[in-house]
Amino acid sequence: MAVFNSLNFENHEGVHFFADEDSGLKAIIAVHNTVRGPGAGGTRLWQYSNEQAALDDVLNLSKAMSYKNAMADIPFGGGKGVIIRPEGDFDRKALFAAYGRAVESLGGIYCTAEDVGVTPSDMEVIRTQTKFVGGLDHGVAASGDPSPVTAEGVFRGLKVAWKKVSGQSDLGGVRVAVQGLGHVGYTLAEKLVHAGAKVWAADINENVLTKAKRELGAVIVPIDEIHTQDVDIFAPCALGGAVNPKSLPEIKARIIGGAANNQLSNSDLGIDLLEKGILYCPDYVINGGGIINVASELSGTYDPKWVDARLDGLSRTLKEIFEISDDSGQPTNIVADKIAKMRITSAQT
Ligand code: NAD
Repeated sequence: MAVFNSLNFENHEGVHFFADEDSGLKAIIAVHNTVRGPGAGGTRLWQYSNEQAALDDVLNLSKAMSYKNAMADIPFGGGKGVIIRPEGDFDRKALFAAYGRAVESLGGIYCTAEDVGVTPSDMEVIRTQTKFVGGLDHGVAASGDPSPVTAEGVFRGLKVAWKKVSGQSDLGGVRVAVQGLGHVGYTLAEKLVHAGAKVWAADINENVLTKAKRELGAVIVPIDEIHTQDVDIFAPCALGGAVNPKSLPEIKARIIGGAANNQLSNSDLGIDLLEKGILYCPDYVINGGGIINVASELSGTYDPKWVDARLDGLSRTLKEIFEISDDSGQPTNIVADKIAKMRITSAQT
């Protein structure tokens, strides 16, 4: 397995591997950068095809967390955890307790929360082993599932993007294709529909599609056609790589913005998006709401006003990225990378 030569290694401060035979835990925690504070980022439970795929994922996600936390202006660096889902039946409590011990063993250089496949009740199990965990349902500063706040941040970001593209301040009548109606995607779809937008949706989970059709009037489309819809906004809210060399020529939307991490399968696609006239909302900027919520909890006192102000900050940063992109002719993802790196460097100096 390639580690130092891995495509995404890029100066990680540490990559930590954990195994626990009794629970079946196999996990990797990557800490990319702690200059702004301890590495903070969620833990993903996923059935990876092999160990290299898990490593590539965690390195990519962890680096993105350094950038995301800098853009969200919170006192944390970048880190991420992945747990390779054990095959067959497994004891979930034992698995997350072992993972909690792994987090504790890092002594606070990494703080965790929920990501794909992980719930607030898993966080409660982790909390029995370590205090370096947020996104809890119980406790003095508990902030619960961060997904609704992520959805709110994406919603506000899409309004900024729509204003830039159309000049209109509200989303009435706007057509949005939401890929993935999970914790974030469903809440986002609800907010969009309440704002008067029309939603197209795809998911691998039939139950959630039935619910979205019934409750939100969503138009259900096959998963391999969601990005091709004739809509104004494409909102990737499932896994990474929604925008790739195959999907890009088929995207008709004028805006791409959603919750998923690492939406571009490679950063050069930002140039293609710019040339096609598609406004890309850099993923780690627009989806920073959840980690802002967790950061408030990790500070020891949950403060909804602080969270709301930081969410507004995300929208302002997004607007700034669009303006710099316009002035410089650079793709929005590259502009975002530059601002994030600058914020990290200035914290160092
Ligand atoms: P989730 O697991 O609740 O939802 C993901 C949804 O995508 C599920 O409903 C799943 O069935 C669906 N899905 C999987 N493969 C699909 C496919 N090929 N096509 C369509 N749908 C598919 O996860 P979530 O918490 O909603 O997070 C969604 C994305 O946003 C992830 O990439 C996550 O890393 C990112 N994110 C989440 C948060 C958060 O607060 N939860 C914060 C930042 C970023």
